[in-house]
Amino acid sequence: MKYFSTRNKSLEFSFKDIFLRGLAPDGGLFLPSEIKKYNQSELKNLSKLSYVDLATEIILNFCKDDINKAQLKILIDKAYSNFKSKEVVELKKIGNHNLLELYHGPTLAFKDIAMQVIGNMYDYLKVSKEKIVNIIVATSGDTGSAAISALNDRKNINVFVLHPHNKISNIQRKIMTTIGSKNIFNIAIEGSFDDCQKIVKDMFNDNEFREKINMSGVNSINWARIICQIVYYFYAAFKIDKQNISFSVPTGNFGDIYAGYMAKKMGLSIDKLIVATNENDILRRVINTGEYRPGKVKPSLSPSMDIQVSSNFERLLFDILNEDDKKVSLLMNDLKIKGFFKLDLNSVKIIKKNFCAEKINDEEVLAIIKNLNTEEKFILDPHTATAFGVSKKINNLSEIVILGTAHPYKFLETVKKATGIEVKLPKQLSNVLDKKERFDILDNNISKIKNYILEKTS
Ligand SMILES: *Cc1c(COP(=O)(O)O)cnc(C)c1O
Repeated sequence: MKYFSTRNKSLEFSFKDIFLRGLAPDGGLFLPSEIKKYNQSELKNLSKLSYVDLATEIILNFCKDDINKAQLKILIDKAYSNFKSKEVVELKKIGNHNLLELYHGPTLAFKDIAMQVIGNMYDYLKVSKEKIVNIIVATSGDTGSAAISALNDRKNINVFVLHPHNKISNIQRKIMTTIGSKNIFNIAIEGSFDDCQKIVKDMFNDNEFREKINMSGVNSINWARIICQIVYYFYAAFKIDKQNISFSVPTGNFGDIYAGYMAKKMGLSIDKLIVATNENDILRRVINTGEYRPGKVKPSLSPSMDIQVSSNFERLLFDILNEDDKKVSLLMNDLKIKGFFKLDLNSVKIIKKNFCAEKINDEEVLAIIKNLNTEEKFILDPHTATAFGVSKKINNLSEIVILGTAHPYKFLETVKKATGIEVKLPKQLSNVLDKKERFDILDNNISKIKNYILEKTS
């Protein structure tokens, strides 16, 4: 199977290429040339599998030219061996709500589910055998720690993590900055996550720099992240065993929910994919009006979703514009030059067939966390609370699964504010808190950051 860019269908790439590059050379996102569609009897067979076997089947569709099935299974098995849950994720009934907990990995957010597999893929694909690979990653708080945990102390790999200074929770920061390994570099940028993401994208587009440092990336624009996340949509739907389930997904960069869209394209019976955002609601606006116009990032209680440039949306655009790479390029150019683009009514109609969207503000988040604790003695983190609140705002859907994306401990200040409760330290994080933090604070200035990286890698 080949891969191409959303902005140019004629260039071909292998899985290994796109895994390493993350972003296409023309600035577009990679997509596969074919998508496996399961029929009813195949779905029935998949529904009997354990999480690891299901993950092996689904991910294999996208990487079989570079990784064989037996090897893939070993690599996935190993990736999930240190998760708290044997089946990786946990589907729970909280009152009459379905909650899919995705945060039982080593850094307590759903990002671990893809990142632990990716860490093993780097080793397996031997990308770092001859030359040191420098992985540059932008984080709104959880991707960075998941990447560090997955790549910590791997041979011939350096990881540079850019996070927005003072705009992530204390626990999020500490998990990243207390690692102390020689191959991990934490950089706090004086700016927002959008600034961090832009710096990383611009570095990818700078061929000379990219080649010089042998750069690679693991942000959610990396296709390997998406394919690992498709799995739990299947897993949850099989467990619930009903047709036309909807999923309420706390959304920032549109990666997680796009994985749900892929599951639907692969034949899983999904009704609506519900985009749950905080006040940074560019996705809600584009889904409801067709206008994609990034605003200024507004810090919220759910910092991992404080995003205004929702990169993976470009993958959906490609699909709803009938895979017209020229049109995608034109819209992306509009975005760059004019600061927005506008979709026609027909495109909006197609999006609305699959998606709906609502937002929740900070005050509502606190009330949701408080009420659920009172009613069910269950504590949500602010991101999951956003999806929870949105699922209640949307009517006329039958069965909704809420994706739980982070453990409440990561946002203990917010939980305390809402409920008065101190969340207990989970086992995975014992002794993070007392260790010394190491990070450098840099201006939001790409040449300064490039110099920093060059200095550390020389
Ligand atoms: C990253 C993240 C999100 C948003 O996921 P996207 O794939 O960027 O839409 C939601 N919740 C938490 C806790 C996250 O870390």
